[in-house]
Amino acid sequence: MTTPVDELASALRDAAVLKSVDALLDWDQETYMPTGGAELRAEQLQLLSGIVHERTTSPRIGELIEEASSSAQSAGDERLIADLREAKRDYEKATKLPKELVEEMARCRALGMTAWRDARKNDDFDAFLPWLEKTVELNRKKAECYGVPAGGEHYDALMDDFEPGMTAARTEEIFAPLRAFTVELLAKVQDSGVTVDRSIATAPMAIEKQREFSKRVCEAIGFDFDAGRMDDTSHPFCSGFGPGDTRITNRYREDAWLDALSSATHEAGHGLYEQGLPKGEFFGRPLGEATSLGIHESQSRMWENQVGRSRDFWEWGIGLAREVFGDALAGATPDAVHKAANIIEPSYIRVESDELTYNLHIMLRFDLERAMIRGDLACTDLPGVWNERMKSDFGLTVERASQGCLQDIHWSMGAMGYFPTYTFGTLYSAQLWEAMGAAIPGRADQVRAGD
Ligand code: ZN
Repeated sequence: MTTPVDELASALRDAAVLKSVDALLDWDQETYMPTGGAELRAEQLQLLSGIVHERTTSPRIGELIEEASSSAQSAGDERLIADLREAKRDYEKATKLPKELVEEMARCRALGMTAWRDARKNDDFDAFLPWLEKTVELNRKKAECYGVPAGGEHYDALMDDFEPGMTAARTEEIFAPLRAFTVELLAKVQDSGVTVDRSIATAPMAIEKQREFSKRVCEAIGFDFDAGRMDDTSHPFCSGFGPGDTRITNRYREDAWLDALSSATHEAGHGLYEQGLPKGEFFGRPLGEATSLGIHESQSRMWENQVGRSRDFWEWGIGLAREVFGDALAGATPDAVHKAANIIEPSYIRVESDELTYNLHIMLRFDLERAMIRGDLACTDLPGVWNERMKSDFGLTVERASQGCLQDIHWSMGAMGYFPTYTFGTLYSAQLWEAMGAAIPGRADQVRAGD
């Protein structure tokens, strides 16, 4: 006899399979799709998102969750209780959104991403402006459908999709002391009079070699290429379709091989988390999914920073780097590369920024997107406000939109309330790393040995 749990698991699995098709189309759009495919892709994603929405909001799912919950409660099955609690949360949220809105968001996302890529290439903010305005409007609608919490704001409802339970007010509370600490430490660094030799970081390296190096480091840290791939893109990301297929992407510049390494270890960190999720019967169920984006980021930021930027890592990494890049790194020592990988210096681009100033980039985005969602900042004023903030926080003058407010993909893909998860992840990663150090004696030796 089929139990409610079995029937529910099967329905959720079907929805997860459909979502994986959606993710595959998304991945293809960001890697291989010709520009001419944009309209059709938008139509595909719009239709598919509607189908997924119908499946995940079917009243039968609601009934099954109720039936399964009461039997799980009476059996005292803690894992199942948690699984169903989260399934119920997802179901209730999904049923609050009308299908038309879901479809419209999918369409806006697909076309917005294409428009963003062109706008960024041409430094043309005005070309992206209508898509940004539409994105803000749709996100406000979405927040209203979810329901703005009492005493809270629209942004809270949006954030909850990425970091369940988190609010803008709590984020502000967490960011304030971190900001004070960062500003103080940055001033100390800048007043120290120490300059680090960056010639190792900017030494020209063939893109093909960088690709090989990135791949071999990802392999070494455990990313399974039989269950994944790495391709080129304009904005690195990781997409876990489901068991056996996790895709990571990277981008390269001849004079920035250490940046390519940072994004490779970052995305491989996401990939490892995806590859490590419970498979089999849990695919499509909350127990088989990421806890939150912040937790997801804790893994990427850990590999990128705690490991990839450590002296211990370079003790091992220098050998591989010399093997791949040859003469270009002949005289490089672990110490010199370690220093070059940790230069603290305000810069325009978030994903290429150092570990310290990174959080200032996130705080800027959090404040500005929150203001746009509140209606306190008109989208048309975004570049001006962004540039002023870059000047006051980083001392930098933005000259092109691509090094300013057009640099990130997130708003084009409709994700507002997402950025703070990077800093949450960074904070989680520091805590997990600390705890791991206590739990695994000799960890540093293992890293030095490439284990
Ligand atoms: Zn990430």
